[in-house]
Amino acid sequence: MTERNFYQESIEDSLQAFDVEQRQGLSTDQVEANREKYGRNELDEQEKLSAWEILWDKINDLIVYLLIAAAVLSFLTNEPIEGIAVIIAILLSVITGFVTEYTAQKSVDSLQNMGSTVAKVRRDGKVSELDAGDVVPGDILILSEGDAVAADARLLKTKNFASIESALTGESEAVDKDAEATYDEEEGIGDRLNMVFSGTAVTRGTAEAVVTETGMDTEVGKITELLQGNDKQATPLDIELDKISKVIIVAAAIAGISVLVTGLITGQPITEMLHVAVILAVAAIPEAMPAVSTITLSRGMKTMANHKALVKSLPAVETLGSTSVIASDKTGTLTENQMAVEHLILADGQEYEVSGKGYTPEGEISQDGQEVDLADNQALNDFIQYGYFASDAKLTQEDNGEYDIIGDPTDGALTVLGEKMGMTEDQLQSDGWERIDEIPFDSEAKYMAVHYDGPQEIVIMKGAPDVLFDMTELSDEEIQTWSQRNEELAEKGLRVIALASIRLDDHSGQDINTLIDDHPHELELDGLFGIIDPPRQDVKESIEMTQNAGIKVKMITGDHPKTASIIAQEIGINDSENTMTGKEIDQAHGQADFIDKIRDTAVFARVSPENKLQIVDALREEGEVVAMTGDGVNDAPALNGADIGVAMGVRGTEVAKESSDMILTDDRFSTIVDAVREGRIIFENIKKYVSFLFACNMVEITAIFLATVFLLPLPILPLHVLFLNLVIDIGPAMALAFETAEEGIMDKPPRDQDKGLMNKVFLGRILLSGLVIGLSSFVVFLIFGANDDLSLPYVQTSVFAFMAVAQLFHIFNVRETDRFGLDRTVFKNHFLVGAIIISVILLLLAVYTPFMNTVIGTEALRLETWGVIFAAAVVSTFLVYLLNKFIKRWEA
Ligand code: ADP
Ligand code: MG
Repeated sequence: MTERNFYQESIEDSLQAFDVEQRQGLSTDQVEANREKYGRNELDEQEKLSAWEILWDKINDLIVYLLIAAAVLSFLTNEPIEGIAVIIAILLSVITGFVTEYTAQKSVDSLQNMGSTVAKVRRDGKVSELDAGDVVPGDILILSEGDAVAADARLLKTKNFASIESALTGESEAVDKDAEATYDEEEGIGDRLNMVFSGTAVTRGTAEAVVTETGMDTEVGKITELLQGNDKQATPLDIELDKISKVIIVAAAIAGISVLVTGLITGQPITEMLHVAVILAVAAIPEAMPAVSTITLSRGMKTMANHKALVKSLPAVETLGSTSVIASDKTGTLTENQMAVEHLILADGQEYEVSGKGYTPEGEISQDGQEVDLADNQALNDFIQYGYFASDAKLTQEDNGEYDIIGDPTDGALTVLGEKMGMTEDQLQSDGWERIDEIPFDSEAKYMAVHYDGPQEIVIMKGAPDVLFDMTELSDEEIQTWSQRNEELAEKGLRVIALASIRLDDHSGQDINTLIDDHPHELELDGLFGIIDPPRQDVKESIEMTQNAGIKVKMITGDHPKTASIIAQEIGINDSENTMTGKEIDQAHGQADFIDKIRDTAVFARVSPENKLQIVDALREEGEVVAMTGDGVNDAPALNGADIGVAMGVRGTEVAKESSDMILTDDRFSTIVDAVREGRIIFENIKKYVSFLFACNMVEITAIFLATVFLLPLPILPLHVLFLNLVIDIGPAMALAFETAEEGIMDKPPRDQDKGLMNKVFLGRILLSGLVIGLSSFVVFLIFGANDDLSLPYVQTSVFAFMAVAQLFHIFNVRETDRFGLDRTVFKNHFLVGAIIISVILLLLAVYTPFMNTVIGTEALRLETWGVIFAAAVVSTFLVYLLNKFIKRWEA
């Protein structure tokens, strides 16, 4: 495309450039042609970590350096096979690390793409939502609050429209846009008020625009710096694991130094000592750890995605497991969001009931059980018609005959009510009604307004009753009456919307805001709509689950405190009578007892988006790990501030999705609870394989240390150690990552996040288990060593086999927290069963094949030797079991 500065061109020329009409949009053929010509609306592949960088990351690692040093030492001490084996170990560790990380990144990428942006576009005269990547130049974009702008576009029409362009300009204030702005000179991006840009977001109002540039031609496309910054950061888990490996390496170092000192004192040859140092280093290093932890987290991410929770980063998977408070939206998350008007109260105090189910436009209005005919009741007819006018939702019928609405469900309820009474858009249009202006709904102001002309010129406002009461000039008495009516409906758990109107006849052509400001005395309250929004079916059960799991649930809503509290009671939220309104939050904020108040409140009503952030901050200060839901643009700060920001996938704005850590693709509360449960399982599994792998390392260190201190030959060869660490242990360790939920996983309080993995009990268990099995290995070494008929290689093979068997037994000491893990539940984890069988086969191959005998220096064992090995393994496993019980009691 030749560079054209569309901001300097008129609306007509801009449309002409793409041969498109605003009301029609592109035709299918034009879309095809433009796609052919300009390509998809995508930025070139982001500068992710390249394969080489991941590889280098794996090589540039303490573990690898230690192993290289070990290899060099092996060659220096004249043990070439050992040196080669260590090199193979290095390669294996680097390659498995690389492969797992690379595949994990790929799957993370594809999951992240699932959360990709959508755009509303008019084509062939119809508005539809499509993937942002499908937008082509010439498309007519329809923009409203919360939308992400999918491409650079020239504005055609703006209504109270502002967008935030910080991604492009760094300016954090929203920019008021104006389709009518004209420019003769060159202007900076931030000053082109008649344009919107890809990568920015709509903060308020509505607009239509014609797409002028897509993909790499957009302003974001041009700014390459923006595409970087995908720095890989260490996850908290990485940091924890790092700490533990350091403890083990220090243990090995202490062992190494003691060995050296003993050696020097007793005058042993230096080469012998260096050799021992090599084995200790090899024994101490958890070669398999990085690969296993990457697998666990990325698998967790996949499982959660299958359960409708898209988690955007690996650390979030783990944080989810420690969630202690879920602060959830009411409307649509805890409730069905299938709204229907059930009750009406008009200004004259008359009350009516509406029948019908869901969005199906069939139902009657009745009073005291008597059906009412609208033809005989002008006031009621007008009220419903104005409600119909003030709705932005459209009723549609799907192929299967079911009805649905496009737009806000609250609006949908009013549209359906009108259609139940036989109103249609076409009919009203042919009656001469036309919408000429509007103020869109905004959750901060909590009302919206429309200006209609036709048989009567009228401004209709609809919104939260308390807000409209304040705007109309009611007497104290009237306020009293209306408030009572409002309470009456709210007490039934109904969502209440008030309708007010200004009847005009001067056709002044004034802007709607001016009209409202200029006619304060004419603004009259017409009545109230009571809308039901029943709780979701599965919510009650999920809430109960959170309560067993020690997770507090707080309801956050823009709705009336009464309505909120009733719904909260219905779904079983604890303390649901304790409510606080946005106003009360504002008053209490900054005071000494603010945090206590927030902590003790279960329902927050009439909150502003700012209140949400205050709630998150207060709870976090209390040490809670907070998951907070949100859907609007204004929720972004709270979503960012929460430990886990949760955006609604269906209802949520693009901006909310971008600011969150997790997207619920079904908007349901139960999905959050499922994700928390999954997070807990993952954390438990991490603990399992970490304690398994590190205990195995300790076993090896202990045995080698004891032997050298007592001036005995090596109980096990370096090659055996490598074989154990890299061949025997790795499969079961990975399989532990696939353990299913332990019984009662949701019956425990959330873990203390500060404690992390590195706590005394956890470490103590690892070290003690390692010591016990290590000591047993040493005893086995002594028993076989005392038999003069057995050669040293035979004894070493026996110790090697013992370690392998004892380590495999040790799996059952780590796989269940509260009991010995050898029971039927083992078979739930097919991977574990498979891994154990494979490990046993590999062990037998190592002991019985002549090839392995030569390579790693083993000898075929006799049957009675296995008898001793098994007996010793059973005893040591039992000792570890008792010790764990003891530690548990001591912990409690
Ligand atoms: P929530 O989503 O938590 O229910 P909202 O901010 O959407 O909170 O709504 C707050 C209040 O604003 C509602 O209780 C209702 O009175 C009013 N309201 C909500 N949606 C609309 C709408 N589309 N038009 C007019 N008023 C609305
Ligand atoms: Mg809402």
